[in-house]
Amino acid sequence: MSSKRDYYEVLGVSRDATKEQIKEAYRKLALQYHPDRNKSPDAEEKFKEISEAYAVLSDDAKRQQYDQFGHGGIEGRYTTEDIFRGVDFEDIFRDFGFGFGFEDIFERFFGGGPRARRSRGGEDIRYDLEVDLQEAAQGASREINVPRLEPCGECRGTGVRPGTEPKTCNKCKGKGQLQFAQSSGLGHFIQIVTCDACGGRGSTFVPCRSCGGSGGVRRTRKITVKIPPGVDDGTSLRLAGEGDRDPRGARPGDLYVVLHVRRHEYFERRGDDLWLRIPVSLTQASLGSEISVPTLKGSENLKIPPGTQTGTVFRFKGKGMPRLGGRGAGDLMVEVVVRTPTNLNEKGKWLLRELEKEINEDNRPLRWGS
Ligand SMILES: [Zn+2]
Ligand SMILES: [Zn+2]
Repeated sequence: MSSKRDYYEVLGVSRDATKEQIKEAYRKLALQYHPDRNKSPDAEEKFKEISEAYAVLSDDAKRQQYDQFGHGGIEGRYTTEDIFRGVDFEDIFRDFGFGFGFEDIFERFFGGGPRARRSRGGEDIRYDLEVDLQEAAQGASREINVPRLEPCGECRGTGVRPGTEPKTCNKCKGKGQLQFAQSSGLGHFIQIVTCDACGGRGSTFVPCRSCGGSGGVRRTRKITVKIPPGVDDGTSLRLAGEGDRDPRGARPGDLYVVLHVRRHEYFERRGDDLWLRIPVSLTQASLGSEISVPTLKGSENLKIPPGTQTGTVFRFKGKGMPRLGGRGAGDLMVEVVVRTPTNLNEKGKWLLRELEKEINEDNRPLRWGS
């Protein structure tokens, strides 16, 4: 069992709090516990806790997942990195003067520190992919075209025009930095800045024609995405190493395919269950009937017993959405809607008038809850 505190409790907001309220609550707490301001030993832990709560509750898909399945639903679906991906911390911390983005938050508190960041290599790419309910239920294989950064073939990622050699920078003499002595009322300072002539590399070169000296070019690659059965709207699939390639040869970033499941005409998904509404006639409902109802894979026979009321729900066990990872499936729920006949001809009306003589509805109010 998870011993984690409830995210709403952590931020001190109600379960129906708006996005603005959640943001405001986090802003206040972050200001209070930011480790750069709060030197108490548990400030960092506390800051992690509120940041994680904010990361989940500020994202619609993650919040829905959390509301439905609790911490287990988040841990089962997202890595720690996924949880923090896409959260606009910068927007919040800009006001504080901390200049903290997602990468900083994540690397500083959950990753290996700034050093790990530098050796990471290529950037991750997000790709949004729309699938239909059928594909979400049965799984699918889809080809997508992803533009990604790759080392330039012309210069082999160096950025240096073939046939030329880099030269030691004249301005910084190869150090990559420039020093300025500055005097002010407060004293004497040495200011060190990155050399603007060589961009800190310590050398200058004739740029490659094909990549303009960056060493990288964007190329569109066809990538096959395997969609496992049971994915939901907002499910993020990670394709390791399919992100941007760093021209300098460090390891490539990852590709995240974020799935969007289109609404189905008839089936509505509620968690793992699928809901269907089927109209039946007054006589079918009164006398009983057997009808065929669609499922995701075909159809099922539904026996409607005599005297079925409108709104009655029939359950087909295991005929709903499959759960991710092959852990069974939800149910198919069929709601029967009794339809009053319209456009009756004279014979129809006569039959109903005859029927009316047999029905003694007293039209007394119904008790609530009956
Ligand atoms: Zn220089
Ligand atoms: Zn090049």
